[in-house]
Amino acid sequence: MCASANPHKVEEMAAILGDAVDLLPRPTGVPDVIEDADTLEANARLKAAALAAATGLPALADDTGLQVDALGGEPGVHSARYAGEPPSDAANVVKLLAELGDLPAIERRARFRTVVMVRWPDGREVAAEGVVEGHIALAAAGSTGFGYDPVFVPDDDNPEGKTFAQLGPAAKHAVSHRGRALRALLVALAER
Ligand code: IMP
Repeated sequence: MCASANPHKVEEMAAILGDAVDLLPRPTGVPDVIEDADTLEANARLKAAALAAATGLPALADDTGLQVDALGGEPGVHSARYAGEPPSDAANVVKLLAELGDLPAIERRARFRTVVMVRWPDGREVAAEGVVEGHIALAAAGSTGFGYDPVFVPDDDNPEGKTFAQLGPAAKHAVSHRGRALRALLVALAER
């Protein structure tokens, strides 16, 4: 059972996990939890625990933050509502680009960090983390993905310096925070 109500995330999780896990969508009647913890792991736990309690099934949750060095690690756990309410991917990207102005690439270092967690109704849990290093582009580019994908340029396997939104899903998942976190989670589940 997947705790995310974000269809982009669910699609990515299903693509990365493939046949390894039978991922069920979140039932529509389950309300959103307020993600007010101050770490990614604690927010992932809030989401997974709420869904496991509501359904009686093991639940998978993910919490992601974008950390930008020049902004002291912000937006971090505030990434979803960086530009205020209601949360808007487009407004977040505009604000991020405005905050960084015309700083050169070397001063635009950033990383995505994701914590994924499976939590059972009895409180057992297995968590894993994934990180991708990169920088924030000078302007948005590309049309795939979601969130900050049009402005995030990953370091790995990216000789042309494309954003995640230009690289497309398969190349993104191969190096992304979510891809790395979910592959590490599968290893941790197998070793349990
Ligand atoms: P959350 O994990 O749903 O709280 O996401 C935090 C923020 O990061 C939201 O603004 C998302 O749109 C953004 N985000 C999460 N995952 C990704 C990603 O893979 N690429 C780009 N933005 C993301």
